[in-house]
Amino acid sequence: MERSADALADEIAGTLLHRFGKLPADALPRDWLDATILTVRNDVVERWVASTRATQQRGLKQVNYLSLEFLIGRLLSDTIRNLGRDGEVADALRSLGVDLASLETLEPDAALGNGGLGRLAACFMDSLASMALPAFGYGIRYINGMFSQRIDPAGEQVELPETWLANGNPWEIERRDSVHRVGFGGAWQRDDDGRVHWTPAELVEAVAVDMPVVGWRGRHVNTLRLWTARAIDPLQLEVFNRGDFTGALADQTRAETLVRVLYPNDSTPAGQELRLRQEYFFASASIQDIVQRHLHSHGTLDTLPDKAAIQLNDTHPAIGVAELLRLLIDEHQLPYEAAWDITRRTFAYTNHTLLPEALESWPLPLLGRLLPRHLELIFRINADVLAQARTNPELDPRGVAAVSLIDEAGERRVRMANLAFAGSHSVNGVAALHSQLMRETVFADLNRLYAGRINNKTNGITPRRWLGGCNPGLTALLRDAIGPAFTDDLRHIAAARSLADDAAFRERFLGVKRANKALLVAQVAASTGLQLDPDAMFDVQVKRIHEYKRQLLNILHTMVLYERIRARPQGDWVPRVKLFAGKAASSYARAKQIIRLANDVAHRINADPVAAGRLQVVFLPDYNVSLAERIMPAADLSEQISTAGMEASGTGNMKLALNGALTIGTLDGANIEMRDHIGAADMEIFGMTAAEVAALVRAGYRPTELLAGLPELEQVLAALRQGEWSPDDAGRHATLVDSLLNEDRYMLLADFAAYDAAQSAVDRRWRDRDGWAASAVRNVAGMGWFSSDRTIAEYAAEVWQVHG
Ligand SMILES: *Cc1c(COP(=O)(O)O)cnc(C)c1O
Repeated sequence: MERSADALADEIAGTLLHRFGKLPADALPRDWLDATILTVRNDVVERWVASTRATQQRGLKQVNYLSLEFLIGRLLSDTIRNLGRDGEVADALRSLGVDLASLETLEPDAALGNGGLGRLAACFMDSLASMALPAFGYGIRYINGMFSQRIDPAGEQVELPETWLANGNPWEIERRDSVHRVGFGGAWQRDDDGRVHWTPAELVEAVAVDMPVVGWRGRHVNTLRLWTARAIDPLQLEVFNRGDFTGALADQTRAETLVRVLYPNDSTPAGQELRLRQEYFFASASIQDIVQRHLHSHGTLDTLPDKAAIQLNDTHPAIGVAELLRLLIDEHQLPYEAAWDITRRTFAYTNHTLLPEALESWPLPLLGRLLPRHLELIFRINADVLAQARTNPELDPRGVAAVSLIDEAGERRVRMANLAFAGSHSVNGVAALHSQLMRETVFADLNRLYAGRINNKTNGITPRRWLGGCNPGLTALLRDAIGPAFTDDLRHIAAARSLADDAAFRERFLGVKRANKALLVAQVAASTGLQLDPDAMFDVQVKRIHEYKRQLLNILHTMVLYERIRARPQGDWVPRVKLFAGKAASSYARAKQIIRLANDVAHRINADPVAAGRLQVVFLPDYNVSLAERIMPAADLSEQISTAGMEASGTGNMKLALNGALTIGTLDGANIEMRDHIGAADMEIFGMTAAEVAALVRAGYRPTELLAGLPELEQVLAALRQGEWSPDDAGRHATLVDSLLNEDRYMLLADFAAYDAAQSAVDRRWRDRDGWAASAVRNVAGMGWFSSDRTIAEYAAEVWQVHG
């Protein structure tokens, strides 16, 4: 063992003794984990302090990434790998009789997010640090993150509270000197000098809790600053003339409610007051913090846009636009025009969805009651927006109404996307098609008013976690074959493309895939009791359960395939394992019904001897980052089959291709750009384009008319309706069938024949083992552009104007 590992073993044992009062003989695995993290953290903190000092001394512009979600996952293995100390830590622990890999699995997933949006924020934090760009991530330190999902014996989703903080969080440092007061309600008035004073009815304190984000090779460490809430000290309450003690306890409870739980809602607004309170609490604390740090370093707010970029990850932090304006005007006495100019030059906004039901808006009376001064400022902004719109020849009265920050149809509501749009100098979509649809549809009128503001930044994924971390076998193989350059810059992975034609390399590549599948098989056996066939094609659809993502299309096709196998058991079937995983929002009944159906289908097919060796179906519970890290390397086929025009980008598609899965997918989101980089011949693209979907909607879509041309699907739907797939409750899936026949909003029937043909083409590819392997290698080699380092480089150069 190396001397450094020896010394580290002593340090870990020392931490165990001094921090936890235990000798190695008495330590539980959990103690070893915490002692290891705290020991490694010393190294991290030293680098962190150095990074922070260097940024200040050089006066660099900083990025502030505001996101209500950070879906981080586990941190230990990522951190020590980025530090280049993974081997040393493993050796040190081994000398103490402890296995690092099993310790790593004890670390809870930091699941402060729902899905893609939150995971993107986590990948961006990794890239910002890896590229040594000074940045703060701002979010909420939820006490309960994303619920954990169980599937009960009947096949239904059960939501259990997530408790990542149950054993404390050894990574975090509470900053008692970074505290900001956040007010709600009350009233404001203007004094004789024209100064506005807001007297909130309630005040809470936001306290910063920081986590280090270590970049690749440990060269730079950024800060993820998560806010927790506490009531203002009862003694200080005297200052506010309300010093009664029971009141103070109630205040504490109310404060904690703000950070209690992540809204388990993927793309529909929660529509609840608490959600708006959370958004303002986090946006206000973050903006106050940014202003304070800037004043501390630079003395004047005039230079804020030159030294701070604020990126809004969707509209959840959009109230921050009004908050910065308020601080500049009410607290720092800037005139409105100057304050607006600073605000607009500081903010940029990323849109993540065009689904109308997912565009956030708040009832005007609610916003006015909680944030009276902000509503006033929103009216003030809107007066300018509307005045400018009315003089724009490209906008008719309907266009003017569309750009307004206030939706006047029905109950009046504040449109948060319009606020974010007006208050930002840059508005971006997350894939080329999505940005184009922003310009053409939802934001067409805002795009006329603010021409050039919309731009595109196609999403990416961090290769540290999604290749180096989750797929050590493939990483080692690639390093051996093309050298290590791709670990510093994923674009160099393109060098692997020619290896597709190298038979020996293909064999080694397939060997790695087979080993990764064996690991997943073992995990599935342990968690569900099901023994999967590792030689079957692993056909994977893992992502949040949502109708637009069309898990139902995949399930229905699986049912048709099963009927075909039953009709011709001796046919030459390509053995498949259909793997599903994903959570449904707790309030999303239809998504939960789809989970139920997936499990009904799995029960029936897995129990039928005719299907054995040909088809297996499994729904893996509790999809999260750690499970994704296990699934991605083991996948053969990646299902990316959303209705074209509805998936903004997707990032699961990227993780799977980077790990050597072929994609069966629609021309939606980033699939389109993946086809451009990988090559159309190595993907199975099918179905309507976004333009064809829109045309079909305009022409009037009648799903029942298609049914006659889809006899197998018609039979499956009839059987499903009659209860053949749910013998214990024949009517269970009737409404699902009815909604397909009556409406089929996501056009499953319209794409079914094309999907079926594409699946047959996938079978033909699989039978050609060499051809499949070559394709998979070209998929890996084609993914260099989809590193989040590339995405962040584009934001840095084109939106933020920052450099390291
Ligand atoms: C990448 C990822 C997502 C996003 O998946 P999509 O297929 O892009 O919707 C969601 N959840 C987790 C845990 C992820 O890692």
